[in-house]
Amino acid sequence: MAETKYIFVTGGVSSSLGKGIIAASLAKLLQARGFKITIQKLDPYINVDPGTLNPYEHGECYVTEDGAETDLDLGHYERFLNVNTSQANNVTTGRIYQSVIEKERRGEFLGKTVQVVPHITNEIKERIQLLGKSGDYDIVITEIGGTVGDIESLPYIEAVRQLKWELGDDNALVIHLTLVPYLAAAGELKTKPTQHSVKTLMESGIRADILVCRTEHELSDDIRRKLAIFCNVRQEAVIQSIDASTIYDVPNLMLEEGLDTVVLKKLQLPDNTTPNLDHWNQFLQRHKNPKYEITIGLIGKYVELRDSYKSIFESFIHAGAENEVKVNVVSIHSEFINENTIKNKISDLDGILVAPGFGERGIEGKIDAVQYAREHKIPFFGICLGMQMAVIEIARNVLHLKNANSTEMDPNTKHAVIDIMEEQKNITHMGGTMRLGSWACKLTKGSLAQEVYKSDIIKERHRHRYELNNKYKEELAHVGLKSTGINPETGLVEIVELKDHPWFVGVQYHPEYKSTVAKPHPLFISFIKAAVTYSKQKNNVKLTQKK
Ligand code: GLN
Repeated sequence: MAETKYIFVTGGVSSSLGKGIIAASLAKLLQARGFKITIQKLDPYINVDPGTLNPYEHGECYVTEDGAETDLDLGHYERFLNVNTSQANNVTTGRIYQSVIEKERRGEFLGKTVQVVPHITNEIKERIQLLGKSGDYDIVITEIGGTVGDIESLPYIEAVRQLKWELGDDNALVIHLTLVPYLAAAGELKTKPTQHSVKTLMESGIRADILVCRTEHELSDDIRRKLAIFCNVRQEAVIQSIDASTIYDVPNLMLEEGLDTVVLKKLQLPDNTTPNLDHWNQFLQRHKNPKYEITIGLIGKYVELRDSYKSIFESFIHAGAENEVKVNVVSIHSEFINENTIKNKISDLDGILVAPGFGERGIEGKIDAVQYAREHKIPFFGICLGMQMAVIEIARNVLHLKNANSTEMDPNTKHAVIDIMEEQKNITHMGGTMRLGSWACKLTKGSLAQEVYKSDIIKERHRHRYELNNKYKEELAHVGLKSTGINPETGLVEIVELKDHPWFVGVQYHPEYKSTVAKPHPLFISFIKAAVTYSKQKNNVKLTQKK
C-alpha cells in the first residue's frame, strides 16, 4: 500500500469509556481483513512513563519487549492483535517535553523561542508518524488519552487537527467515543452530552468522522438520526457500543455495527473481504461454555483496584478458555493474611497466585500464603515478587535460616536470599532503571518448565531490581527448590520449582505480559490444568467422605 493511513480515537463526556478496547477491537477487525496495523497511546500526563506511578493511580504498568514501561492499554492491544508493541507505541507529555527541552539545550532550535505551538505539537506529530514511517503498517490507530476539553490534551488535539489537514481526508479520520446516558426517571437515552462533546472538539477545529456511543440500552433509529444531524456525521457513522459481558465480545459488536466498513470507506481502502475471526470466535466459544469451574486466589496488596493486575486477570481468561474451564479469581489482600485468618481465606482455593509488587507492606501475608500452598500441596504460582516470597518462605521454614529476607525489605538481613544486582547498587534514579524487557532464559532438561514451554530456551519480560542470591542456590536445591531457568548471559535465576509438589513454580519475570487470545501463556495453561486436577481430586475426596 502506498501510504499509511491514520485513525485517531478521542474521548468525550467521561473518562473510562474504554477507548483502548474500541481501538483494539477496530484494529482486530482490520487485522482480520488482512491489514497490517498497530495502535499507539498518547497520554497527556507529565510523568515520562507510568513506571514510577503507584498502581492505585494508574493500574498496571505494562512492559513491552523492548523494556518500555507503558500504559495498560498496550496490554489490550497486544492481547487482541498478538503483535508486539514498543516504546514508540506509548508517548506521554513528559516524554514529549523532555525531548523538546533536550533539543533546545542542544541548540537545535537555532535561537528561536520554543513554544507549545509549533514545537510541542511538531514533536507530537513526529511521534505519531514515526510508526507509520517505519513502513511496517498499513494503518496506525492513535488513541488520545483523557477527555476532550481537558487542558492537558489541548496540544494533542491541535496536533491531530494539523495532521488531519496535512494528510487529507482520505488518509486520516477521527473517531470520537462518547457516552449516551440513560435517565431512568425520564426513561430516555440522552444525546445532549454527546452534542456538547462534539462541539468542544469542533472548537478545536476537529470534526469527528465517526461517533462511537457507549450506552447501556440499544440506540433507536431516532436517537441515531438525532446524533447524526446534531453532531454532523452520517447516520451510518453513528456506532453503538453497548455494554458487553466481556471485552472480547467488542470486536463482534463493532462488526455488527459496521465500524470497520465505515472506516474503510472513509479512508478509501478496499472493502472486498470479510474479517476472518474464526480463531477469535473459537476462543469466545470456549470461554463462554466452560465444562468445569475453579477458584484461584490472587494474593496481592493492590487488590482494591482490579486494573493493578490487569494482565494477570486476562491471562487467566485466556488459559481458562484453553482448558475449557471458568476461572474465578478471588483477590485476597496479603495484609490481612495471618496465622488466624489464613485457613479461612485460602484453604478452599484450587490454586494460589502470589502477585508481583514492591516494598514491605503485606509481604508477611504473602509468605504465609506460600507456606500454606507448599504444605497443603495446593498449586502455587509466584510471579516476580511472588517468586521471591517463595524463596524466602523456603529459606525460613525449610532451611531454617532465621529472618531470611530480601534486601528490599530488610537491608541488614543476615540471610539475603533475595538481593539487589551489583549493577543496580549505585542507581539513584527511579525511572526506567530496573531490569526491564525481554531476556533469554535457558531451561533445565526434564524440568516442569521445559515440559510446559516445550523448548530449551525462552524469552520473557522483566521488571524488577532484586534477584535470587546465587550463594543460596545450592542450599535451596538441596531441599527441593530447584533453579530450572537461568539467564545464559548473567547466570541469574529466572525460574524455581519445588520437587514433590503437584505444581509449585516461581518466575522472576512476568509471563502475564505475553499471554494473548491467539497465544495463551503456557505457564498459565499448565497452572490452570493443575488447579483443575487438584480441584477434582479434592471434590472426589469430599464425595467419598460423604458416602
Ligand atoms: N520488588 C521486587 C523487585 O524489584 C519485585 C518486583 C516485581 O514484582 N515486579 O525485584
